[in-house]
Amino acid sequence: MSTLKMVILGRQGSGKGTQSLLICEAYGAIHVSTGEMLRSAVAQASTLGLQAQQIMESGSLVSDEIMNGLVAERFNHRDITEHGVLLDGFPRTVAQANALESILEGRGQDLDIAINLDVPLDIVTDRMLARSRKDDTPEAIKRRLDLYEKETEPLLDWFTSRNLLHSVDGVGSETEVFARISASIADNTEASRLSASVDTREAQR
Ligand code: ADP
Repeated sequence: MSTLKMVILGRQGSGKGTQSLLICEAYGAIHVSTGEMLRSAVAQASTLGLQAQQIMESGSLVSDEIMNGLVAERFNHRDITEHGVLLDGFPRTVAQANALESILEGRGQDLDIAINLDVPLDIVTDRMLARSRKDDTPEAIKRRLDLYEKETEPLLDWFTSRNLLHSVDGVGSETEVFARISASIADNTEASRLSASVDTREAQR
């Protein structure tokens, strides 16, 4: 199958993490979650972890400089070139989106699609209050959702202007939502169209 380079966007609590795992399993892409990368750095008490911990606990964003460096470094690993990637949690700001564009340009690669998992604010707030992650205090949740509106919503325009954005209704069962996402990937990415036509030819033999 051709490799896909994808981004998934969506409010905190939109089910992005769960859907990311399903997408990666189906398309063989590498799941790059910047939240997970940071949490593992915190757990290891690395220099990055020590820098990020307080920022994360307060619900603020880690600086673009740190995040761009972290992701650029991750793209040096061959697995992404070989298997494709789903970026989850990055980019979160327009500056990060511009950095991603340069990282890919430097490798002669393009993004295939940005999937926006759309779930209304009242539903994500309830979902987040119901889970019990250490950084999910009501104050931190509000702070993160406010930041999302401010920093991340402009990203939707950024991806739209590059003709990459496809919104998917994120309300429904995991299976229903995943079916909508797969349909969107199939309809809107050149690489998956090519591999689908190869599959069809093979099936016809
Ligand atoms: P959530 O979607 O609930 O915010 P994540 O796992 O994506 O969860 O991220 C957890 C925290 O890690 C964020 O609140 C933020 O502090 C930090 N973080 C993750 N990705 C980024 C990023 N791209 N830019 C800045 N900070 C980030």
